[in-house]
Formats: sequence, C-alpha cells, structure tokens
Amino acid sequence: MRVYNFSSGPSVLPLPVLEKAALEITNANDTGQSVMEMSHRSKDFEPILYETESLLRELMGIPDNYKVLFLQGGAWLQFAMVPLNLAAVKKKAVYIDTGLWSTKAIEEASKYIEVNTGASSKDKVYTYIPPAPPPQGDEAYYHITLNNTGYGTKWSQLPETGPVPLVSDISSCILSEPLDVSKFGLLYAGAQKNLGPAGCTVVIIREDLIGNAPSWVPSMLNYQILARENSMFNTPPCYGIYMIGLVLKWLKEQGGTEAMSKLNREKAELLYNCLDNSRVFYSPIEKSSRSLMNIVFFPRDEDPQKRKDQEERFVKEAALAGLVNLAGHRAVGGLRASIYNAMPLEGVKALISFIEKFY
Ligand code: PMP
Repeated sequence: MRVYNFSSGPSVLPLPVLEKAALEITNANDTGQSVMEMSHRSKDFEPILYETESLLRELMGIPDNYKVLFLQGGAWLQFAMVPLNLAAVKKKAVYIDTGLWSTKAIEEASKYIEVNTGASSKDKVYTYIPPAPPPQGDEAYYHITLNNTGYGTKWSQLPETGPVPLVSDISSCILSEPLDVSKFGLLYAGAQKNLGPAGCTVVIIREDLIGNAPSWVPSMLNYQILARENSMFNTPPCYGIYMIGLVLKWLKEQGGTEAMSKLNREKAELLYNCLDNSRVFYSPIEKSSRSLMNIVFFPRDEDPQKRKDQEERFVKEAALAGLVNLAGHRAVGGLRASIYNAMPLEGVKALISFIEKFY
C-alpha cells in the first residue's frame, strides 16, 4: 500500500512516473539497457539529457540567453558556487535572511565575500517575509530563498533590484507555479522535491553572468566549464536526469505550471483554512508570506511539554493512518506537511480529516 508522504525532501513522486521507471528499469527506450548502465556519452543517453533540458525550458519558459545545467552537490553547493562565480570582482552581495536555508546560504557565502544582510525576519522567528530594501548598486548580486522549506514562508512579490542580478534558491518551489525567469540572473534547485530523486541540482543562469570565476576555482565548481560542456564535463547524474525528464513529461500532461499552481493553491488553502479554524493547531506564518509547498504548524497549547507530547503523538498516530513524515524541520520544531506537486488533493484531504479528528 502507498502512503501519503509529506516529507520535505526527498519527497513524493508521481506514481505514473515511478511505474514508468519500473517498467524501463532493465530496458529503457528499447536500448536493451537500464539508463543506469548507459554511457553518458552514448547516443542512447544524449536524447535523454536533451529532452529533459528542452522540457524544463518549455515548462519554465526559460529564455534562450540562459543556460540550464544539471549538476551535483545539492543546493548546498550552490551556496558556495554562486559567490565563487558571480562575485569574484565586486566581492559583495545582498542576502535577505528568512532563516534556515537563507542563513546557511549567508554563512557559506561569507567565507568568500562580504555579505550585506539587507533584511531579516529573525525578530519574529522567521514567520514572515521582510520588506526588501533596494541594493546600493555596487553588489554582485541579490540573493533570496523564494520558498523557505523549513519555516514555510514564500516571497509573493520579488524585490526590485535594478541592474543587480537577482539570485534565488527555488529548491522547494520550482515548477509549483509560473515564474518569470527573466527577472532573475540565476536560479538553483536541488531536485529532490518537485523535480525527481536526490542527486541532481538544476542551475539556470543568464549567459552574461558566466565566465567570471577566478582561475583557482575548481573546474567542477566553475559555471563556465560546466556550461561549455553542457553538464557533461564529468559524468553527470544520469539516472537523476532521466527521472527529472519523466517528472517533466508528467507535469506537462497535467497542464504545466498553470495547472499546478491552481491545484497547489487549492491544496494549501484547504490546509491553512483547517489550521486557522482548528482548536488544537495553528499556522504561525503571516498570511501574505505563507508557502504553498511547506505548511508548518504547531499545537496551540501553552505548556511546552504538552505541546511536545502532542507533536509526538500526532506524528506517530498519523503514520499509523498512512500519513507519514509530518515532523517539522529539526531546527524549527513543530509539525510540517510538505505538499509538493505530486501530492494529490486526496492526500491533503486525508490529512485535514486526521487533523480535525485529533485531540
Ligand atoms: N535550500 C532549500 C530551500 C532546501 O529546502 C534545501 C534542502 N531541504 C537545501 C537548500 C539544501 O539542499 P541539498 O540538501 O540538496 O543540498
């Protein structure tokens, strides 16, 4: 029996995608081989990479003057690659601190460049997206975490950064709704939420931002080398790329990002409504900053011990009811339901009815 999996990542994948992958596990596209066995430089693998990239370009409306890279090292490696590649000359960037993942990005960038924390929502435990100040103008880029997986916040309006390129971590919201790529200089996302299995990171970079890394930057971290070789400088995460391709085909059949946005809004609204009306739980996130993907909630009880007991009992009993991975991020606590593209409406309804019955 399949459970409803609310994990923040790796997370639920569409069942038809898993079934297709299972069917092709020993013989993909009539090649007599698994994608796992193919040479990455063979005529069998080439079309897989090509198709995955063109589907992503189509579904996200990526303009021609952007490169798409399929890399490794997770979104975390991008925390370092972005400053190493983009800020070699100016050595300065703006970061907005919305907690956890943006804090990690700041910590990593601070090893290489001067980070100006333009705004932070730490004063209210990261329960809102702070107003974004304009950059001074001499910064190499302006970084935001579009959707914060841990705290469950989301930017609903992008900051105005003028000529300073906007850079964003979109790990937990890529393809969840339409996004105007041309507003950004660089976007990056780990695959293990809306794209496919862990092990592949997608980077979308405007061409004029490529080619600025100092020569001492390792080749594997240099966007220019990786882009020149079309993600094939070394062996790419072949199977992950293939799986992303299957997910993208599925997404296209569902109606693309417009259809996903409609469904994701419906799912999130139902769940937030349930929490806003619950006597037991609440969402701490300001309404205008609420994530559509990661819904964080806490017991209302004032007593910390009772709250902890309720959280533990909730996670345990939910799992027995087939609703798994509902504990909050270990740094945030509480509970969290991640309802990515592949989480069906029925899964959210099942969770709501469990919340309503929970005392
Ligand atoms: N950024 C965000 C928004 C994330 O949610 C995560 C992981 N959950 C990361 C970065 C780190 O990603 P990875 O584990 O792929 O390096």
